[in-house]
Amino acid sequence: MKKIALHWQIMIGMVAGVLFGVLMTSFDWGADFVIDWIAPIGTIFIKSLKLIAIPLIVASLVKGISDLEDISKFKNIGLKTITIYILTTVVAITIGLVMVNLFQPGSGISAETIDQLTTKYAENSSVTSKLAEAQTQKTAGPLQFLTDMVPENAVKAMGDNGLMLQVIFFTIFLGISMLLVTPKQSAPLKAFFDSLNEIVLKMVDLIMLMAPFAVFALLAKVVVTSDDPNLLIALLKYAMVVVLGLGIMVCFYMSLIAFYVKKSPLWFLKQLAPAQLLAFSTSSSAATLPVTMERVDEHIGVDKEVSSFVLPVGATINMDGTSLYQGVAAVFIAQALGHHLGFADQLTIVLTALLASIGSAAVPGAGMVMLVIVLEAVGFPAEKLAIGLALIFAVDRPLDMCRTVINVTGDATVATVIAKSSGKLNPPEEKNWDDNYKGEI
Ligand code: ASP
Repeated sequence: MKKIALHWQIMIGMVAGVLFGVLMTSFDWGADFVIDWIAPIGTIFIKSLKLIAIPLIVASLVKGISDLEDISKFKNIGLKTITIYILTTVVAITIGLVMVNLFQPGSGISAETIDQLTTKYAENSSVTSKLAEAQTQKTAGPLQFLTDMVPENAVKAMGDNGLMLQVIFFTIFLGISMLLVTPKQSAPLKAFFDSLNEIVLKMVDLIMLMAPFAVFALLAKVVVTSDDPNLLIALLKYAMVVVLGLGIMVCFYMSLIAFYVKKSPLWFLKQLAPAQLLAFSTSSSAATLPVTMERVDEHIGVDKEVSSFVLPVGATINMDGTSLYQGVAAVFIAQALGHHLGFADQLTIVLTALLASIGSAAVPGAGMVMLVIVLEAVGFPAEKLAIGLALIFAVDRPLDMCRTVINVTGDATVATVIAKSSGKLNPPEEKNWDDNYKGEI
């Protein structure tokens, strides 16, 4: 029997999860049942992916760098990566700002809705904790992010998924030093990491066998814990503007794939689909990273020399979906609360949202924390910040799911573009126990 493609299996799991969630909301005990008995499957899946993220980054980055013939190639890839990441982020914020100014979703919000949302969410612990987190981020000095990138203890850095940039720093340092000793001296370590890399990629395939069930659980939980649908309707225009902007961003990426990489956008999306669907279900580009790396390496054919660096760095610093959302959300809140934003303010938004996307963690809801900093940068009164966040809180989770898809798609597109420009795009390799799993072990 022909096996259903992985992305279809995941999609069936997602639809079934939503339907099951809706069904469960009609019973008093439904939400508790989903949270106690179904949701843990999703949590276990996310934890398993996070479990292999650090070994995968270390192994593939060491392999990528130690395969290089000379270090200057790495410098080139590094510079190109940072430049293209900044450019795509600026494009994303600009699209967001154009859309929100064009459609003005904030002007139609009635005072009554604002009141209703404020009463419901302004004191909500998630909103207040986001405000507090933003304050800690803000007190950091301008070069703090550079200091934060250098670990003082490699093992400790590897013990915390939030310290991904520190791990990347250590691994690049290790990889470059391996290039500087004789091949005989580096061979055992290189063989070790090559083997670790292949084995961890296989672990990704094995974890993915659980994906259709995990997305079922994740989406069922999203449905039973979601907010009052009436509030979602009040914010529909705002949500549509964000989603439309994200859609334009996909068209932008696909035009890069078609015209620069010269590959079919449909083929590209099909190869990447499992990672995108997981990004949607988990709302976390960090949790999705192992799958993104596996798809981009093995299914799109980007050489490890490129993907092992571009993707983990992208997951931490390149968040196009998040930046676009911050642009739209900041202006929406200002429109709804009658705070006028001039052209200079909008430029400030571009700049702060760019920096904020570099600083945002790749976890659910991180974009909202940085939004506070963007709002403060345009002089939004501090006492109204909680009201501002309360306004968009009800639709944050679904929008988070959508913007995470764009964050992941952006990283994969940039990796493919850089691979093309460096002559590092190979024909994809097909492996067992993958999409092409035939039943044998
Ligand atoms: N959830 C997003 C991510 O992990 C970040 C955000 O926009 O909140 O990519």
